[in-house]
Amino acid sequence: MDDFLIIGGGIAGLSAGARLSALGRVCLLEGEDALGYHASGRSAAMYEPRYGAPPVVALNEASGDFFFATEGLLAPRGFLMVGLPGEEEAFEGTAAAMRMQRLTPEEGRALVPPLSPEITMLAYRAEAWDIDTDRLLQLFAREIRARGGQVLTGQKVTAIGRGGRGWQARAGERVFSARHLVNAAGAWADEVARMAGIAPIGITPYRRSMARVAAPEGHEIRRWPMLFGPGESWYAKPDAGALLISPADETPVEPHDAWAEDLTLAQGIAAYEARVSAPVTRMLANWAGLRSFAPDRNLVIGPDPADESFLWMAGQGGYGFQTAPAASRLLADLAGGRAPALDAATCAALSPARFA
Ligand SMILES: Cc1cc2nc3c(=O)[nH]c(=O)nc-3n(C[C@H](O)[C@H](O)[C@H](O)COP(=O)(O)OP(=O)(O)OC[C@H]3O[C@@H](n4cnc5c(N)ncnc54)[C@H](O)[C@@H]3O)c2cc1C
Repeated sequence: MDDFLIIGGGIAGLSAGARLSALGRVCLLEGEDALGYHASGRSAAMYEPRYGAPPVVALNEASGDFFFATEGLLAPRGFLMVGLPGEEEAFEGTAAAMRMQRLTPEEGRALVPPLSPEITMLAYRAEAWDIDTDRLLQLFAREIRARGGQVLTGQKVTAIGRGGRGWQARAGERVFSARHLVNAAGAWADEVARMAGIAPIGITPYRRSMARVAAPEGHEIRRWPMLFGPGESWYAKPDAGALLISPADETPVEPHDAWAEDLTLAQGIAAYEARVSAPVTRMLANWAGLRSFAPDRNLVIGPDPADESFLWMAGQGGYGFQTAPAASRLLADLAGGRAPALDAATCAALSPARFA
């Protein structure tokens, strides 16, 4: 029997597995044939420490030590908010929340030369980085295996029950057992809780779409900061020689293998083209992913109040990568009975007990 059976091979499950493997034997089950197939393979891969509600910001900031100490995980990006007349209120709110510095249009154009002359408001923050998300996922998977744990793909869990001194989960013909069950199932987190006879929390998946388009001709975009609209209304960022553009949509959906709708992608491209005078000429690829939030939009980390052997690692929303180092450390602190490194108010705001 293993100590921790983790359901979900995205960033939540893999980071949890890496930290929990210091406490006992880990077995991680991923239903798809590859790790990071769902949300974790479809993100914008940013580390923006000021992005999110205060408990999320606390996790982001506490993750910094790990990110900066691990070679090759981060690359400088920065982000630039650009506002048109009529967007003043959202601009002021976002600039204050993200502690951004005002720029003149000339300073903005030094960063992104084709910015539209109609842009009247600009704010910048250098503290934002691209995360090498594939490397991060692999690093955590390697750590689990190096400590004698298993990371298994193609193992979709369809039934969960109690047995012996812990949990049993069925995937195909195989039955796995462990003392603790870790719910890191992303959009399916409530479904997994229900299977285990644990009360669901109300984790809701919201679809977000992304177009990958050819870089505008005649522009060297590699060093452009991430561009975004006040109040998270759209964003664009360089990505390996191309440009990612998202309408920053947030449509509640059932858990599924998400895809992007043409009209939604077109809205993002129109928002970008209204602000950057370098039209999109060619779509290279597009996708959508599910950002899954608890009702209060904070992550859900720790033992379920009704059964301490059921551990939640869910509700990663739009922050799963940038919070992973600290979120997984918190889960291991709670599972191992250690005093968490994070302050008590943050731990309470992230605890599953807040929904009891
Ligand atoms: C467009 C977009 C942009 C984003 N940008 C950023 C960003 O810039 N920075 C950032 O930090 N975050 C970002 N995010 C959010 C981030 O991607 C997510 O928070 C994170 O990937 C969630 O990870 P997860 O492991 O919880 O979920 P997932 O990656 O979805 O993993 C859950 C896994 O559980 C598996 N599973 C479910 N049920 C079962 C079962 N019964 N049996 C076995 N396996 C099961 C699924 O197959 C899935 O692989 C973005 C997300 C999107 C969609």
